[in-house]
Amino acid sequence: MQKAFTTGSLVISIHDVSPSTCKRSQEILGDLGRAGIDATSLLVIPNHHHRGLISDDPEFATWIREKVAEGHEAVLHGFYHLREKQNSDGTMNRLITQSYTAGEGEFFDPSHDRACKLLQSGRAAFAACGLEAKGFIAPAWLLGAEAEAAVKQECFEYTTRIATVSDFTNGRVYQARSLVWSVRARWRRICSLAWNHSLFMSFRNAPLLRIGIHPPDWDYPAIRSQILHLASTALARRQAMTYQHWLEIQRLNP
Ligand SMILES: [Zn+2]
Repeated sequence: MQKAFTTGSLVISIHDVSPSTCKRSQEILGDLGRAGIDATSLLVIPNHHHRGLISDDPEFATWIREKVAEGHEAVLHGFYHLREKQNSDGTMNRLITQSYTAGEGEFFDPSHDRACKLLQSGRAAFAACGLEAKGFIAPAWLLGAEAEAAVKQECFEYTTRIATVSDFTNGRVYQARSLVWSVRARWRRICSLAWNHSLFMSFRNAPLLRIGIHPPDWDYPAIRSQILHLASTALARRQAMTYQHWLEIQRLNP
């Protein structure tokens, strides 16, 4: 719905959408829909933790196709969403990939060939569901240099990281930090509420506001209501859209 006085854009992404999180993703989309948000980027994992391909789950495939037909976007989000352990892991890599992401950084440091294979398999699983991904977003936003080269080679149009949106079609990189919540421990949840409130205030006049939601966020009422409150507040002055749509608009302004 086009509003008369929008001054910016709002992209909400739901991470880790797969058959194992489908019910929760439906709940999140339902709550967002009631708040007036009818376009989001859905970050879909083709074979979440090796539990099975999205294309082998007809119910999921039908649901995600319907969401795309309604105006949401399906973005490729890793393949297994699990990083293969490397024997040569140094302390710093261990810290980044195990402490920070709980070992989910699948595209943090794969070889170029391995990354290409995962991307091709992901694209095939999408195609088997009747989906086409224009964007690729790495699990935990951890995209290493070789993996990024593979994403470009496989002709994905864009990626995002926690603080940037990169358009591979023209080389532009937009600075826009995503709001994101960490819910694994009570102290993290308390910090997240304060941090995201202050980020939201400091981005009041930013052209793009990004909100990243993970399925476990909805386990915590305080987190859930903050996300919904910030999203509805933002919607008063911003147009909700997908990353793909946002980039299409930017490309019209060289
Ligand atoms: Zn993820």
